[in-house]
Amino acid sequence: MEFQNELTKRGLYYPPDPGSMAVSTMGGNVAENAGGPRAFKYGVTRDYLLGLEVVLASGEVLRTGGKTLFTGCFTNYFAGDVGQAVVNVLKKLRLEIEIPAAEDCCGIAAILSGEGDLPLKNVQQNISTLSRARVDAVLVDCATCGAAFRKEYIDLLKRKGLDSTQAEILKGKTQDVMEYVAERIHELPLRKDYTSEKIRVTYHDPCHLVRAQGVSSAPRKILQALPQVEYVEMEEANACCGGGGTFQFDFPEIAKGITEKKIKRIRETGARVVATGCPGCRVTIGGNMDEQDRIAVLHPLQLLDGALTGKGLDKFPFAGTGRLC
Ligand SMILES: Cc1cc2nc3c(=O)[nH]c(=O)nc-3n(C[C@H](O)[C@H](O)[C@H](O)COP(=O)(O)OP(=O)(O)OC[C@H]3O[C@@H](n4cnc5c(N)ncnc54)[C@H](O)[C@@H]3O)c2cc1C
Repeated sequence: MEFQNELTKRGLYYPPDPGSMAVSTMGGNVAENAGGPRAFKYGVTRDYLLGLEVVLASGEVLRTGGKTLFTGCFTNYFAGDVGQAVVNVLKKLRLEIEIPAAEDCCGIAAILSGEGDLPLKNVQQNISTLSRARVDAVLVDCATCGAAFRKEYIDLLKRKGLDSTQAEILKGKTQDVMEYVAERIHELPLRKDYTSEKIRVTYHDPCHLVRAQGVSSAPRKILQALPQVEYVEMEEANACCGGGGTFQFDFPEIAKGITEKKIKRIRETGARVVATGCPGCRVTIGGNMDEQDRIAVLHPLQLLDGALTGKGLDKFPFAGTGRLC
């Protein structure tokens, strides 16, 4: 009843109405899949459940339902190692995730290149797949796709005079996967023996995470929680890496100067690993480093996965070795 009252205040409506509503709890309603007379028209509790957090008898926490992982094109086609690390970490958090077959390229390359109506098919497909009522969170492992869902889709639809209501819903559901993990980092059994020595790590803030989505503390929280990591902040960590989507192809000389400054900042820290949550930044930074730098460019969850599985740092390639970053 308290729940119903609270929803009414917010102009919302929750259909299940067991006769015991005044005394029963949400936990009991879920366990019994309760319903009342309104079930004939609107269904029972099960029809309104997006997900559950279950504490098992062993004390373990299981999370199920409603969470979708959006794997961007970069993860799918170039950086399977990042995608695998993300899935490994989410599994360790006992999160059951869905990767919908109907998810499409986020279309941001076309959006930011001003390509007219070209991206609209992708935008509308993703909005309809990911804003469904049964999806309660869309976790994204690419800064750029996240920026598309939280900002660019809405801007694009408004520019075209189209309805952006569903895009706003998608925005509300979208979370960078690092935000989700950072909140739960204390639940993970981190190993100390994944590397024999302390690793100095720094973090580069991708524009699409820090400016478009306001995400900067979550990746740092993850990195600082890792055993054996000596976290050092670089100067101007949130300055662009020079990639800027297609900017680096349109203005290569200017982009090169920006990238050189970023690499100088990274070198100054003496870090062995530069972590970043954007695949584009990984390629721009890693592709412009020398093998002699002996610096690996990784997604923070790759390091975290290493600390969970014991995978040593020697398994990660250094930038400039010809392999992806
Ligand atoms: C007068 C009356 C009218 C009713 N009318 C209806 C009706 O119209 N429709 C209908 O479907 N049912 C009805 N019921 C049955 C009952 O109200 C429902 O099953 C209700 O969902 C039970 O909720 P509860 O909070 O009272 O749970 P409880 O009876 O306290 O518990 C039910 C089960 O759920 C488990 N449980 C409770 N909380 C949690 C939790 N947080 N996590 C895990 N497990 C939990 C308990 O261990 C127990 O096994 C009625 C019952 C009464 C007494």
